[in-house]
Amino acid sequence: MPEFDQLSRDENGRICLYEDDRWEEVLSLLKESVNDTQFNAWFLPMKPVLDGDNIIILFENSFSRNVVQRRFLITMESTVASVFNRHYNIKLIIPGEDPQLAPAPDPAKIERQKNLDSMLLPRYTFDTFVVGSSNRFAHAAATAVAEQPGMVYNPLFLYGGPGLGKTHLMQATGRGILDNKPDANVLYTTAEHFTNDVITAIQRGTTPQLREKMRTLDVLMIDDVQFIAGKEATESELFNTFNELYNNNKQIVFTSDRPPKEIEGLEVRLRSRFMQGLIVDIQIPDYETRVAILQRKANCDGIDVPDDVCHYIAANVKSNIRELEGALNRVTAWARLNGSRISLQLAQHALSYLPSDEKREYKPEDIVRNVASYYKLSEDDLYSVRRSADIAKARQLAMYIISEENQLSTTRVGDMFKRDHTTVMHAIKTIKAQLEKDDELQKVIDEILKK
Ligand code: ADP
Ligand code: MG
Repeated sequence: MPEFDQLSRDENGRICLYEDDRWEEVLSLLKESVNDTQFNAWFLPMKPVLDGDNIIILFENSFSRNVVQRRFLITMESTVASVFNRHYNIKLIIPGEDPQLAPAPDPAKIERQKNLDSMLLPRYTFDTFVVGSSNRFAHAAATAVAEQPGMVYNPLFLYGGPGLGKTHLMQATGRGILDNKPDANVLYTTAEHFTNDVITAIQRGTTPQLREKMRTLDVLMIDDVQFIAGKEATESELFNTFNELYNNNKQIVFTSDRPPKEIEGLEVRLRSRFMQGLIVDIQIPDYETRVAILQRKANCDGIDVPDDVCHYIAANVKSNIRELEGALNRVTAWARLNGSRISLQLAQHALSYLPSDEKREYKPEDIVRNVASYYKLSEDDLYSVRRSADIAKARQLAMYIISEENQLSTTRVGDMFKRDHTTVMHAIKTIKAQLEKDDELQKVIDEILKK
């Protein structure tokens, strides 16, 4: 509890807060968020006094009071809270107006803010997100949503492979919304977390409370939503919440490791909701973007990483930004442990666990050719619609190996064979099942990849 004993009081016995050093601090923080003219006109002349839980500030006229009220009140309250370490209601009044007694601060709101702070990582912002061709579209969609939540793309569905920046972009969107509207009721959660909330609510008989909490959101963000597939009660809660929020133009954002139509076991009605807004993918970053991400990270961490080291790491870690960052961390840790500077040679040592460049890359077409020749079929047979058992089996194997080796989505593999992605999903499942009971099949695959 801040002490104000040493401050004088005004004629009404209220504490003259403007004499307190901490008010100076509030002003200097506020100065950073407004321009000089605004600051001098509105903030500098303020003579705040303290009355219980209220900070009262008198304005000369209603015009300036309304401007400050509309544009800065929330920022002021949060700045005051951060400096004084507690919440005060700020009452902006004009002559002749007495402040009404303040309603107590809404504990639900304070709790909410605390939860959100613990879920949103400070470094996941738009500022730290490097934009390249692989994520340009997703980034543009996310910034549009942050600026106009509920208005442009709803729901926004971001998908992509692991470690490609889905969580980062989603959290940046939440932050962006809060920057523009600090009062917005934003919930960031993961599908796992949400599922647990639903289970707990069922166990404790508090489902109505959970529904009420979800229903009053302005923004709902669910990360890795593919995990709710098949969890019926959770799917049904999400479906109801979705409709409620959507119909009230509240923003909804999902991420997933695959597009909605490829999430197996998902309720049909939920799938169609997922597909109702904008679906964007994040691809594997190209070489230049990988270098830029490494440089940005080195810069943020305040470490000096020579260009050739960034290039070396970017050339060797290709498909996952989390691993890209991990490689850089490993190099810096090695340098620290060895007390040496970061150099290309050191990076090569530190990263010797990485598969070398000689590791063969298999083009999808080569895999089809090898599978065909192994089974003494023609490539055309595999690309054809023919369904004789031997051709179908070889084709399934080709689909499986391509999606495993190249990490292509089932949609892309389907396109190669002019087939639906569900056919590819079925092929992968069939081959996986066979691999489990038949050791020979793995040898066949190794043989095919050796060709
Ligand atoms: P995902 O949720 O897709 O698995 P994350 O969002 O957790 O991936 O990202 C993994 C790591 O890579 C995080 O540390 C994140 O900050 C970083 N990252 C991903 N994309 C970018 C980017 N475009 N610019 C900078 N850092 C990125
Ligand atoms: Mg993630």
